[in-house]
Order: sequence, then C-alpha cells, then structure tokens
Amino acid sequence: MKIMINTIKDILEPEIEIFVSKLRGKIVVPSATDYNNSRKVYNGMIDKHPGMIVMCVDVADVMASVNFGRENNLLVAIRGGGHNGGGLGVCDDGLVIDLSGIKFIRVDTSDDTVRIGGGNLWGEVDHATHPFGLAIPAGIISTTGVGGLTLGGGVGHLSRKYGLTIDNLLEADMVLADGSFVTVSAKQNSDLFWAIRGGGGNFGIVTSFKFQAHKVKTVFGGPTLWPIEKTEEIMKWYQDFINNAPDELNGFFATLIIPGAPFPEHLHNKQFCGIVWCYTGDMAKAKEAFEPILAINPLFEHIGEMPYPSVQTLFDGLFPPGLQWYWRADFFNELGPEVRAKHLEFGSTIPTPLSQMHLYPISGAASRVAKDATPWAYRDARYAGVIVGVDPDPANADKITKWCKEYWEALHPYSAGGAYVNFMMDEGEDRVKATYGDNYERLVTIKSKYDPNNLFRVNQNIKPMLK
Ligand SMILES: Cc1cc2nc3c(=O)[nH]c(=O)nc-3n(C[C@H](O)[C@H](O)[C@H](O)COP(=O)(O)OP(=O)(O)OC[C@H]3O[C@@H](n4cnc5c(N)ncnc54)[C@H](O)[C@@H]3O)c2cc1C
Repeated sequence: MKIMINTIKDILEPEIEIFVSKLRGKIVVPSATDYNNSRKVYNGMIDKHPGMIVMCVDVADVMASVNFGRENNLLVAIRGGGHNGGGLGVCDDGLVIDLSGIKFIRVDTSDDTVRIGGGNLWGEVDHATHPFGLAIPAGIISTTGVGGLTLGGGVGHLSRKYGLTIDNLLEADMVLADGSFVTVSAKQNSDLFWAIRGGGGNFGIVTSFKFQAHKVKTVFGGPTLWPIEKTEEIMKWYQDFINNAPDELNGFFATLIIPGAPFPEHLHNKQFCGIVWCYTGDMAKAKEAFEPILAINPLFEHIGEMPYPSVQTLFDGLFPPGLQWYWRADFFNELGPEVRAKHLEFGSTIPTPLSQMHLYPISGAASRVAKDATPWAYRDARYAGVIVGVDPDPANADKITKWCKEYWEALHPYSAGGAYVNFMMDEGEDRVKATYGDNYERLVTIKSKYDPNNLFRVNQNIKPMLK
C-alpha cells in the first residue's frame, strides 16, 4: 500500500486550531520569529524546513501530536536532544515533535534507579545523579539527548564496567503510533521493551525512561597522546591491552589534531593518536592501573582523579552546536596490520582541527550480553568505530566529507559489516539491515505490529511488512 504524505499546507486552519487547543506546549510555524532557531539541530550541515514544530511539555501533548500527524498523513520526526548526525530529529515539510520541554529527573535512593524525561540531555542527568554518588552509562558529550542515544544503544566511558546504556534501562513510557500510551519493561509489553533497546525511535515516542544507576562518583582518567607516526605501534599495544584490561578500565582510541587551548601550545595543530581513559575502580589503586599505560611513554598525558561529570564534559567545549559534521562508522573485530596502516595514513591527513576517528571498546560488560537479548547485534565485535569530519565553516563541508568517506572506504573491507546506528548518517536500508543482523526480522515483526503504516520513519528505518 502506498501511503499519501501531506504537508501542513494541506490542513485547514480550523483543524490546526483544534489541535493547538489540545496542547499545553506551543507550535512554531515558518512565519514565527523563532522558527529558524527552532528548526536547528546540532549538526550545522542539516538544513531542514519542517511545516510545524510542536514543543511538547507533557505526555498529553505527545499523544495529541501523534494523532494529528497520523490523521493528517504528515511526515513525523521526533526530536530528543537533536544531536543525531544524519539530522533524524527534524524533517522537511512535516511535523517535528520536539520533546525538549519534557524534562524531569528523579533519583530513587532506595534502589539507585533514576526516572528521566524523554527530552532530557545527559549533562542534566549527570548533574542530578552526581550528588547521590550515582551515574548511568551514557556517551562522552554531555549535550547529547537521552532519547536518541539510549534508543540506539549508548556507548561511553562506563561501557566496559556497566554495559551499554540500554543494558541499564529498566522501563519506559511510550506513546505509540495509534496515539495510545503504554509502559514497557521486561514484564509489560516485553516485545516493545526488547525492540527499543537498540531499535531507535521506530516503535514510538518515549516520554520517560527508568534506568538502573551505579555507584560512580569519582573517576581517574583523561587523555594520553602519542605522535601520529606511532599509530601502528600504539594501536597494536592498545588492542592487546584493552582486551585484557579489568572492566573498571575503559579507554577509547582516537586519531586527532590538537586544535588549541587548553592543551599546551607545542601540541597545537599537530596530528596525534591517543586514548581517552576512564577508570572507575578503587581510587587507591588507580595509579597502579595506569602504570602499564605510562610505561608506553605518551608524549602528553593529562590523567588524574576527577568527578564523573568532569570526564563527561571534557570535550563539550570543543564541540559546540552548529558545526558541520559528516559521519561514517563500522564495527571491527580485529585491528590487524592493514587496518593499523590505514589509520596511520588517514590519521596523518586529518583535514581540519576538529575532525577525528574514534574506536570505542565493546568488551567487558558490554560484550557479555547475548547478541539476541537486545537488537544490538554486534556484542561480539571488539570496537565500534566512527570517523567524523568536523569544521565550523560550511565552505569546508566537501573537504571533511571527502576525507571521512575515503577513510571509511579504506577500512570498510576489514570491518565486521554493520555499524552502530547512532554513528550513522542516513545511509539506506541495506546498512540498517547489516547493523541489526539476525535481529532484523524480529524488529520487522514488532514494527509491523505497533507501527504498520511506518508513521515513525524519520530514523534508521525498520520498514514494516507490506500489508
Ligand atoms: C558530538 C556527539 C557525540 C556523541 N557521542 C556519543 C557517544 O559517546 N556514545 C554514543 O552512544 N553516541 C554518541 N553520539 C551519537 C548519539 O547517540 C546520536 O547522535 C543520538 O541519535 C543522539 O540522540 P538525540 O536525542 O540527541 O538526537 P535526536 O536527533 O533528537 O534524535 C535521534 C533519533 O532518535 C529519535 N528519538 C530521540 N528521542 C526520542 C524519544 N524520546 N523517543 C523516540 N525517539 C526518539 C529521533 O526520532 C531520531 O530518529 C554522539 C553524537 C554527537 C553529535
């Protein structure tokens, strides 16, 4: 069945008025003075013009918006933190359901669980949980949305110790495509609970998440850097080291340029390979844990004890909203000699100071979850790799895109096949299938049950079965 897509212009004014009367939040339309600001997402390369943005403030607003979008055959995008590389939190012409007004965080100290609104950002969560000595595994930039990051998986500094973000999700409240409201958990609507732990925003809009938090207050970590010429040697060492390291020690590998302050001047604008560490074990033993790392003689290190929110915000200043971003990603099992040589080659030709490559370890607790326990199929891959071309100047968009694509193309033949969905741009159905692997068919079945007309399609889309 071919579904007709309308635009907001096809909807009569009285119908829009009825919709608005059901909202506590406001709508933003193209004629509004705050329209241009409201349609922006984190990636400055994305320039989409929705027909209407609904700034939801509660679940009732989300239900009304879903019903309005469905009844009028609109293209519907859901925006959590707006960080998605491919700009999947916004769309042209259609309806953006913005969740940034749905924010609340409640820490329950009786069982160390945390209830969070569908529009919260991770920095807000860290701020709220830190005074209780608690943390939830998340990503490495604090302005990222809880919604998109969680629904795609969630890789970060605590992955080796406490697993992916989805491994710590206990429950979620959702508004489904038919406008109904459900709570999902291992005990209620367990098919949906399975699907949202990696399947993205395909199944409905999450208005609240409940997570298990962990006792993490102070960590020991920071970056260690080596000259780019040492990439092959350091990557080989890293591979052996991280795969045998205790779960308490996480470290992601990077090729990068040091753009400027706060790093010392002699490092500025030079290429490096480096590792960003985060140790969550006994602080009295932290220095001992870092002895083998410092024995590899980094050219520069800035490691030490810090509050957990500090490691979570280390790179926020480098990456403000509005930069141009081009993303490419893959999972890897091995960092063999050919792979290491490619990293040296492309790491030496990083085109702009903010462009980088990261390899996040998928080991420790993150790898001990069965491949079919959640949609996140690559539990046995050792690394989630991502290459980002980044620059403030739109004139450099082609340059960063070309480097990123060429780097990716050189490495892809050595990859495990798919990529972490949250590190992908809009790359088409085959890439989505490759990413979910053997879990794809189960996702299609659940999608067909809860969203048979694919209302939620502005995402890494899992297409429902044709009716
Ligand atoms: C600078 C930067 C650093 C990053 N670092 C990491 C990292 O360390 N680890 C990691 O795992 N990822 C990381 N990411 C990737 C990040 O996980 C994705 O960009 C993610 O999509 C962002 O979620 P969001 O809510 O901010 O995005 P949005 O653009 O708002 O949404 C992304 C997708 O999720 C859907 N969505 C969002 N919220 C909801 C909701 N409540 N209910 C239903 N669907 C929803 C949207 O419809 C869209 O399809 C990073 C991204 C950036 C830009």
